[in-house]
Amino acid sequence: MRIFLGPAGNCASAKELATAGSLKRLAELGLNAQELEFVQQVYLKHDAAVELGGISRDLGVRLSIHAPYFINLCSLEPEKIAASKKRISDSLDRAEALAAQGAVAVHPGFFQKRPAGECMAAVVEAGKELAASYPKAILGFETTGKHSAFGSFDETLEVCKAVGRKNCVPVVDFAHLYARQMGEIDFAAVLDKLLAYGHADLYCHFSGINFSEKGELNHLPISSNKPPFGELVKELKKRAGKFSDIQLICETPLLEADCLVMKEEIERQGLKLG
Ligand SMILES: [Zn+2]
Repeated sequence: MRIFLGPAGNCASAKELATAGSLKRLAELGLNAQELEFVQQVYLKHDAAVELGGISRDLGVRLSIHAPYFINLCSLEPEKIAASKKRISDSLDRAEALAAQGAVAVHPGFFQKRPAGECMAAVVEAGKELAASYPKAILGFETTGKHSAFGSFDETLEVCKAVGRKNCVPVVDFAHLYARQMGEIDFAAVLDKLLAYGHADLYCHFSGINFSEKGELNHLPISSNKPPFGELVKELKKRAGKFSDIQLICETPLLEADCLVMKEEIERQGLKLG
């Protein structure tokens, strides 16, 4: 089992503002992953992505992407579905240009007035098309934090199964699952279910979280212990022979500082990065 750990977004302590500077800083800190946040827009051009991919490989920092938030594959309006697919396509194109080994995390959409079965069918249809069009990228459907959004853990597992391609995977946001379940999480059950569905690589986001009955409110530092990171490490360690690559993206406001807290916990339990 290899562990890749890093922040969602550029390091706060990098000397240079651009992503290349962030990657250098991560390597200095002994971290080995970063997620590029395309949350407002796909800001990286294709050629720049090719160059950045080379830099990331030289530094040993594995890249993943967060696709824009303005995506709704469950929409009843065809133009909104088309615009959503374009944002995902652009993100997958950049993932291929980067030769990113991490996933492109996508929030699939919102139920609005559509029944769950129809939403599932719409997401599967789009997933099949997108995963086939970008075979070298990894399309990751993320577990969402609000009940109004498509993306419970079971929904993402079923979507990936129905898409039926190796490059379509669930992205498990443990804080979102914890918020959906009103402050409860069974890490062992989540990991075993992934394995049962044939996913030996784990793509995940981790942070602390505040929640209400509707779901997530805001992210908190790892020290909040909501949910407890040490418990995830414990359950991963028990399954070290079953998982191959673990992509662990820290989504707290403390970025690389919290990644180091997570790294320390991983090492305290006898595991290491890389
Ligand atoms: Zn997300």
